[in-house]
Amino acid sequence: MAPKLLMLTAICRLIVTVGLTLNPNDLLITTQIPLSFNHTDIQSASSDFGGLTNHPLAAAVLHPSSAADVVKVVKLAYESPHGFAVSARGHGHSINGQSAAENGVVVQMTTRSSPSPPQAVVVFEEMMYVDVWGGELWIDVLKCTLKYGLAPKSWTDYLYLSVGGTISNAGISGQAFNYGPQISNVHEVDVVTGKGELVTCSEDQNSELFHAVMGGLGQFGIITRARIALEPSPQRVRWIRVLYSNFTSFTHDQEYLVSLHGQPSSQKFDYVEGFVIVDGGLINNWRSSFFSPSNPVKISSISSGGSILYCLEITKNYYHHSDPESVNQEVEALLEKLNFIPASVFTTDIPYIDFLDRVHKAELKLRSKGLWDVPHPWLNLFVPKSRIADFDKGVFKGILGNKTSGPILIYPMNKNKWDEETSVVTPNEDVFYLVALLRSALQNGEEALTLERLSDENRQILNFCEEQKIGIKQYLPHYTTQQEWMDHYGEKWPQIYKRKLEFDPRHILATGQRIFEPSF
Ligand code: FAD
Repeated sequence: MAPKLLMLTAICRLIVTVGLTLNPNDLLITTQIPLSFNHTDIQSASSDFGGLTNHPLAAAVLHPSSAADVVKVVKLAYESPHGFAVSARGHGHSINGQSAAENGVVVQMTTRSSPSPPQAVVVFEEMMYVDVWGGELWIDVLKCTLKYGLAPKSWTDYLYLSVGGTISNAGISGQAFNYGPQISNVHEVDVVTGKGELVTCSEDQNSELFHAVMGGLGQFGIITRARIALEPSPQRVRWIRVLYSNFTSFTHDQEYLVSLHGQPSSQKFDYVEGFVIVDGGLINNWRSSFFSPSNPVKISSISSGGSILYCLEITKNYYHHSDPESVNQEVEALLEKLNFIPASVFTTDIPYIDFLDRVHKAELKLRSKGLWDVPHPWLNLFVPKSRIADFDKGVFKGILGNKTSGPILIYPMNKNKWDEETSVVTPNEDVFYLVALLRSALQNGEEALTLERLSDENRQILNFCEEQKIGIKQYLPHYTTQQEWMDHYGEKWPQIYKRKLEFDPRHILATGQRIFEPSF
């Protein structure tokens, strides 16, 4: 539909509800909802990082100044005889249009672009938590808490994501084996439900709604405030990479390291990740900018004879008051237990904030080369530990060939750090891996890197997992039919269905996920 027509449709729908004239300005003043009908605003709010297709346009964008603004627009959608879609949009870093609201209202939650942003971050130093607006970016949360010498415990690899956006999925990185995903570190949230009610919830208060919105893909409410656990912030990070040519040794060591989660901090690493190197180097890999003063050899120069290498990535955090010798000893004691290629130890030492913000540096480099705003056919999977070797054989050593077009992350997590009551689904094993194929398509590049080719490979990987009954679950899931969503949720589907009925009965929220048909 043409944008003008979309705008008119939206206004007409709103008019039916509130009985106004056709002038959008009247509408704004009378309803006191700061909607924007600006075409550029609408287009930008309807796009995302995936850049795979043109997502359906919204009719208007809301830049809320408070939770009350969010309440007003959701209430209007819920109570209107016609109804309309309302989707929260954090930083729009989804891949498949998950924050789009066809013909409805996108609630642009980030404060950075807001003309009158809500109060974003309040640190409660003694209580060791921080209250943040749902649209706040993690980088801004970190900068505020660091002023008090504190920091959140569990992260994503990239910090230019909104708090509401990551906790609507789970929020994972190399700390998850120890602290669980970000959703395991949230004490309380304020949520605007699909009925337009603002509800405070936690484990003890309105717990069904609390669990519903954790990993809830935006289906049950818009998170306007989250209370997040903090810890004293480390100041520096010893950042280490070691290489393997043998997959079994690699996963054995990764699983050993994550099994240490219950040990005192001196006897475990603080972060455990890893990646797969299938194309003879780290070309096009965001994480290639790693310089190791103690071993200034490029990882890519270690020959793998054309076969695959696996890189284990680990860190040890430390403080101003830490004894440097003890840090060395702790690292050495842990490395001694591992079975990597001798002489492949790459170590660097950087400030904590630089480590957490590492992907942004790579972003700036890619942006300068025009390689950031390209289509991203990403595929993120949770793979059960018992089948990770089959996955390696069939996918890394099979389907992928020798061109990957971006980093392939692989790291294990402990299921007991995930709350089963939340809306996230993970494989049914004590340990499961994240495998993230973070690919960039280059339309005019090599044939191997085109969007069509990479999307086709993704389909092949999913088919392989299906045929071999690998038992994967998609992370940041994307499906187009309700049957596929039912399969994804499995035994959890009746609970998800019931939660939707209770908290968003008209299916107004986050329609871009395509889980429930809107009932208007
Ligand atoms: P959006 O794309 O804006 O929204 C995603 C979904 O959440 C939509 O359905 C939307 O309606 C809903 N939503 C957004 N805000 C709210 C809210 N306040 N209340 C309720 N629902 C809401 N993920 C990880 O776990 N670990 C990583 O290391 C990681 N790294 C990434 C690196 C990059 C470069 C990118 C692009 C993504 C990465 N992700 C990672 C994925 C990321 O966590 C998700 O895509 C997340 O949804 C992005 O947050 P956003 O604020 O951009 O959300």
